[in-house]
Amino acid sequence: MKYIIIGLGSFGASLAEKLTAQGNEVIGIDINMQKVEAMKEKISHTICLDATDEHTVNGLPLKDTDIVIVAIGENQGTNVMVSALLKNLKVKKLISRAVNNLHENVLNAIGVDEIVHPEQESAERWAKKLCMHGVVDSFELNDYFSIVEVKLPRKYENKTVEDVQFRERYNLLVLTTLKNAQVDTNVGKTKTIVDVQSVATPHLLLEKDDILVLYGSNKDIKKFISAS
Ligand code: ADP
Repeated sequence: MKYIIIGLGSFGASLAEKLTAQGNEVIGIDINMQKVEAMKEKISHTICLDATDEHTVNGLPLKDTDIVIVAIGENQGTNVMVSALLKNLKVKKLISRAVNNLHENVLNAIGVDEIVHPEQESAERWAKKLCMHGVVDSFELNDYFSIVEVKLPRKYENKTVEDVQFRERYNLLVLTTLKNAQVDTNVGKTKTIVDVQSVATPHLLLEKDDILVLYGSNKDIKKFISAS
């Protein structure tokens, strides 16, 4: 997928880095040259420009981009201006960051496709990460069920999903695994990306450094982690 991320503050920069590591093509944009310089090795492409300048923004490859994310948080006025500008330019999918309810209402009125609340969401994820040692990332489906990424416990290395009996012993479903893979970049360097495997089968072999993507109740996930 092709992304443009506007605003390389903590949220935008880490999102851009993560999406690049997952093998997406990402253009990271910031008005501050230092921010752009700091991220240029970690994001597919970086550009220093003022995203409120219609003429410059119009020159971006918007038609070839699947998702544009306005990640500016500190300055709500700028965030709203940039979001409205991109809405007018009819990008395929526009996601904007809201920092409070009023801001969210304005973004909804502009007609952005989706709104993110990183402060709130990352607080939830952090709470989970701190409570569950070994959790790399998590997605809460409701108060009781989650999808979590967990480092493969040592004792399950070189065993299959069937051997571990996730379902029978822990009441958990293994959705897939993530593996670190080295890929060649077109500038003669290699970089590590996280490679998502296909849907897990009972015969899937679990290897050192794999990350398990598990689905289950928070109670069962906690039980699995503390037993590891
Ligand atoms: P976080 O809370 O994630 O750190 P911030 O809101 O502090 O996010 O960061 C916003 C980023 O957006 C900053 O790096 C800032 O330089 C950038 N930014 C602000 N205004 C513009 C603009 N007009 N065009 C492009 N980038 C901008």
